Amino acid sequence: KKYKKGMEKTRQTFSGRINDLIARYRKVDEDFFEELEEVLITADVGVMTVMDFVDELKMEVKRRNIKETEEVKAVISEKLVDIYYGDEEDHIEQLHLSTEGLSVILVVGVNGVGKTTSIGKLAHRLKQEGKHVVLAAGDTFRAGAIEQLEEWGKRADVEVIKQREGSDPAAVIYDGIQAAKSRHADVLICDTAGRLQNKVNLMNELAKVKRVIEREVPGAPHEVLLVLDATTGQNALSQAKTFSEATDVTGIILTKLDGTAKGGIVLAIRNELNIPVKYVGLGEQMEDLQVFDPHAFVFGLFA
Ligand code: GDP
Repeated sequence: KKYKKGMEKTRQTFSGRINDLIARYRKVDEDFFEELEEVLITADVGVMTVMDFVDELKMEVKRRNIKETEEVKAVISEKLVDIYYGDEEDHIEQLHLSTEGLSVILVVGVNGVGKTTSIGKLAHRLKQEGKHVVLAAGDTFRAGAIEQLEEWGKRADVEVIKQREGSDPAAVIYDGIQAAKSRHADVLICDTAGRLQNKVNLMNELAKVKRVIEREVPGAPHEVLLVLDATTGQNALSQAKTFSEATDVTGIILTKLDGTAKGGIVLAIRNELNIPVKYVGLGEQMEDLQVFDPHAFVFGLFA
């Protein structure tokens, strides 16, 4: 239910415009598909993804010999789910954490996207699942980042390992790992700095942090989650490209989906970069982080 509410803006825009198209055209023709393309692009599905999608849709419509636009609606939902999964079976992406010993989650993303908030929400979520969670304040660069993470630590009732502002992020993460190990914690979530201005610095810093994690915890990092702000639309897509060049991103947390009609970016990220969206942020509260379910998402668009 919360999911539906959080998606309200995308849903209204998207289903409103599609319903309008369907009512206006009634019969399926080239112009109908062209306008449909426009609607999808406006919802930030991404041009490449839209073109793939509309090609597939046209083939399916032809195969089933559909003539009425009203009948196309169900096929649109189906094909949107297909375009999300590509060649894979439908499934909901889980975090790949180890069942024994410490799991490490590295969280990356540009300042302002909701990285700190998402870490707080994720810590709360994992704690609710019965896991012992520790946070490492690896964003030593942004003013106030450490205090903000501590606030979330208090709220979620998890310990935060930190050093002074400006200290070496890799050293903070190292401390975090030692603390998490000595407390027999299940999950360590590591914050990182979100500077993108200098790509070489970003790469070097992430590489260094990752080396420490790999050395100290076999099999780690178990997840590298990239936080993206859905309201930035195509900009989020380009951030995803940059970060996936800098490090192996294993999943995405897409924030602020409640504040935008650009929810279609979910499909573009998956289709163009093949990185699964694992969680979506649907508000500013601790409970507002939901596991991403492509079916619920796509069918929610038409609900
Ligand atoms: P950071 O700089 O990436 O760590 O970003 P913050 O975690 O400080 O978040 C920036 C702002 O976005 C804050 O005001 C958050 O409350 C807000 N925010 C984060 N996630 C969401 C979300 O899913 N929905 C909404 N509406 N706001 C969010």
